[in-house]
Amino acid sequence: MRKKIVAGNWKMNKNLNEALELGATLSQALKNNAISLQAHQEVVICPPYIYLLKLKDFFRVLGEKQIQVGAQNCHFKDAGAYTGEISASMLKSLEIDTVILGHSERRTYFKEDNALLKAKLDHALANGLRVIFCCGETLAIRETKEHFNFVAQQLQESVFHLSAEQMAQVVIAYEPIWAIGTGVTAAPEQAEEIHAHIRQLLAKQYDATLADNTTILYGGSCKPTNADALFSQPNVDGGLIGGAALKADSFVGIIEHLR
Ligand code: PEP
Repeated sequence: MRKKIVAGNWKMNKNLNEALELGATLSQALKNNAISLQAHQEVVICPPYIYLLKLKDFFRVLGEKQIQVGAQNCHFKDAGAYTGEISASMLKSLEIDTVILGHSERRTYFKEDNALLKAKLDHALANGLRVIFCCGETLAIRETKEHFNFVAQQLQESVFHLSAEQMAQVVIAYEPIWAIGTGVTAAPEQAEEIHAHIRQLLAKQYDATLADNTTILYGGSCKPTNADALFSQPNVDGGLIGGAALKADSFVGIIEHLR
């Protein structure tokens, strides 16, 4: 059975105290709501780099085993003169197992293109990280009905060179840019339609088994009130959550709808 995941992307939010407080509240909220994840379910939070180790240690001290800690980005080289950057091998040395790559904010503000993301993906996988790889179109692209081709091209240029074995370490997150942080959510049918398209692309590029085993998350203004409708779609395997991951009650309210 493929993994069902709720991952929280904290982006550039929270000071250290706030980050630890959110970690503690989240852990307590999982207990209060008697949430016990099944073997195929996962919860990951991706705080800013500087809190990764603190949060991991904090959860260890709390005995919190259900929440994994992942990173929001990494560089494409192992080491060198890249001021301010963090490599996948550094993350791995912190025992971080998951990294988000290709988020639309990285693509837009930091000019990360498909070729660069391909290099980052290769580097992250070579260092044993699992990658949540984001793709998704702008509103202008959707309005011209080119979104199916656009997402296919993003995957073609950054992901589909991978072997089937490497692909097993990749989670795809479909995140329409027009839904990220806007309060506008893709309708469940819209999400399902493009998730099914992505799974068909995987089946064509690899095979039906790999396609069936690949986790495809939805991201874009997901909240407790729409998570159930989205996660009940057959090809939606959970969510990558931005704003709603910054409050324990809304994040847990989404986790409760994991299938
Ligand atoms: C995101 O940034 O990945 C995201 C899905 O944000 P939000 O949930 O705030 O739309």
